[in-house]
Amino acid sequence: MTHSERHILGVSGGRDSAALAVYMRQHYPDLPLEYFFTDTGKELPEVYTFLDRLEGFLGKPILRLNPDRDFDFWLDEYGHFLPSARTRWCTRQLKLRPLEQWIRPDLESGTIIHSYVAIRADEPTREGYQATHPNMRVHLPLREAGIDRQGVIEMLDQADVGEPEYYKWRSRSGCTFCFFQQKIEWVRLAEHHPDRFEEAVRYEKTALKDGSPFTWSQGESLPELIEPARVEQIKADYERRVARLRDRRNRNPLAVGLPESVDDIYGIDEAAGGCVICHK
Ligand code: SF4
Repeated sequence: MTHSERHILGVSGGRDSAALAVYMRQHYPDLPLEYFFTDTGKELPEVYTFLDRLEGFLGKPILRLNPDRDFDFWLDEYGHFLPSARTRWCTRQLKLRPLEQWIRPDLESGTIIHSYVAIRADEPTREGYQATHPNMRVHLPLREAGIDRQGVIEMLDQADVGEPEYYKWRSRSGCTFCFFQQKIEWVRLAEHHPDRFEEAVRYEKTALKDGSPFTWSQGESLPELIEPARVEQIKADYERRVARLRDRRNRNPLAVGLPESVDDIYGIDEAAGGCVICHK
């Protein structure tokens, strides 16, 4: 008895998964790929603009998978404990759960599901993309084709998809208040999307009031982080990092380009945080 097969590719709003979608469209135009995006409901507005552009290139809609319960429901369920790197209920409930609900019936009835995941050739092996069901097959085409970070940037550029706008001030896709963001990125969130920053402040206040031990950013609350003197300090720290990296690159003749954006800085240690589901 033969079972049917499906091919799925999750885009996160980040550049690697977008490049993978472009790559698959270019190299396997006849594969019946289903593109999907799991929407936490707390995404940056720039993500939607980018998805629209990507859809234009793919000539096909990217299916939006919405969680059956939203962030506020789960926050309440988890006793107002903000999600954190150690207690990451958000990815589980708002990203993985909708995906599972979408494909589980097919997996259970014997359909083989091929999932294409955007791990680049220059990344260390990371967890989080292993098959979770015997009928699931995970493929890493970028890694197999030897495509690295620079290759991804070039591919998006050549396809005229370009980069999501938020890369000018922030290194990762995902929720506006993602706890993986660096302090400079919080400062920039406040500058670029003050309403979203305020929303994060409200969540944090409620959480602290209800006994959550977590603030979004380690060691300080968002109102503390956004005090003018503290902002100056965070910006100065960031500039020092940029200068150090620039210096290192200048001494290494093989390094091309100078770091100019937050992404150039945090791109170098992106494997240290973030996750393959939200930030690829
Ligand atoms: S982007 Fe960050 S906050 Fe949002 S679901 Fe992923 S890990 Fe959680």
